[in-house]
Amino acid sequence: MRRLLALTLALLPAAAGSAPPAVTAVKAGRLLDVAHQKVLEDAVIVVEDGRIKEVGSTVPPGAAVIDLGRHFVLPGFIDGHTHVLLQGDATAEDYDAQLLKESLPYRALRATRAMRIALDHGFTTLRDIGNEGGGFADVDLKRAVERGVITGPRLFVATKALAPTGAYGLSGYDWQLTVPKGVEMCDGPDGCRRAVRDQIAHGADWIKVYADRSYYKQPDGQIRSLPNFTVEELTAIVDQAHRTRRKVAAHSMTPSGHQIALAAGVDSIEHGDVFDDATVTAMAQRKVYWCPTLTVTDFVAGPRSTTNPIWSELQAAVKDSFRRAHKAGVPIVLGTDAGGFDWDKINQAEEFRRYVALGMTPWQALATATVNAAAMLGQEGTIGAIVPGARADLVALAEDPLQDITATERVVFVMKDGVVVRQP
Ligand SMILES: [Zn+2]
Repeated sequence: MRRLLALTLALLPAAAGSAPPAVTAVKAGRLLDVAHQKVLEDAVIVVEDGRIKEVGSTVPPGAAVIDLGRHFVLPGFIDGHTHVLLQGDATAEDYDAQLLKESLPYRALRATRAMRIALDHGFTTLRDIGNEGGGFADVDLKRAVERGVITGPRLFVATKALAPTGAYGLSGYDWQLTVPKGVEMCDGPDGCRRAVRDQIAHGADWIKVYADRSYYKQPDGQIRSLPNFTVEELTAIVDQAHRTRRKVAAHSMTPSGHQIALAAGVDSIEHGDVFDDATVTAMAQRKVYWCPTLTVTDFVAGPRSTTNPIWSELQAAVKDSFRRAHKAGVPIVLGTDAGGFDWDKINQAEEFRRYVALGMTPWQALATATVNAAAMLGQEGTIGAIVPGARADLVALAEDPLQDITATERVVFVMKDGVVVRQP
């Protein structure tokens, strides 16, 4: 019986009725070429085998036609900083409850829903930057998407993330209990190298480190933090990752962390709320990417500042840092920290409007989630652009995002790898 069923299933198409025609022509009323800041009118995007074959003005004979003639068409969005295995942690209690009361299978189920929400909002690729006690489940989620088991964004995953002993939750519990940890803890250059090797062996595309914690105000009014790793430890982590062609993302909130992270040679700074001039200069010169995660900062500032007022100061500081970093030419990648806020409460595309409010043009804001993000991921020409050879990841909007950037929060059509996953 079992065997028969398996045979029957094997004969069915992967998803009945959904097999795309060989060639699809997407008629785009206005195609936004983000890389060149140009609008092409009445363009035709020809899609074959999940990729863009050409961008022209005529529909090839026999092609299936998708008519977006009244829409604004863009490359699928990329979020450079998410946690699909997390469902909002405005407070430590919210975080602890997920790690203590939810099994990993249940968390993975919730993650599949988070991924569907992201895709419906136009995010066809996520750099999922640490799974908060989820083992290597993010590698499974990535694989499930690649194999068509679930429908979701393409994932670049960082697996467990790294912090030294004592530098990350869960903490504060009865010492007789063994409670789960939100990261893998490693100590000493050799121990950290071993952890990097193990994560890469299990499928990590990126290595994520927590460079600092415990934010406080100095007597001179400057906000600083406790650096987590020694320079030797963080240098070993970056060296080991780079030897294996992996990049390193560093959670770093103040210059106390930035200094060590940049000295070690990390590839991106996450959050980065407080930038001093030395940090801005170094990041601009060495082209270290920055994911500002303004959406999560606005989400957690209220709840967290009731117990620690530093959070509302960080909220103000990151806005100032943004203006200065943008002006200095620090490469900015849209990163929201979705998962830090509830996926179903806030549309991660809100991040765009925050960038425009702080001085970016709509074109520049759109670039953070397309060309800039693709460059950070080493995927130029493959994602984040509507060019021949790229993955056919498209979003369409009913309104012009160049006039009103919040149009990005009202995606009406999404195609990923040539398959329509949302339509008007
Ligand atoms: Zn995060």
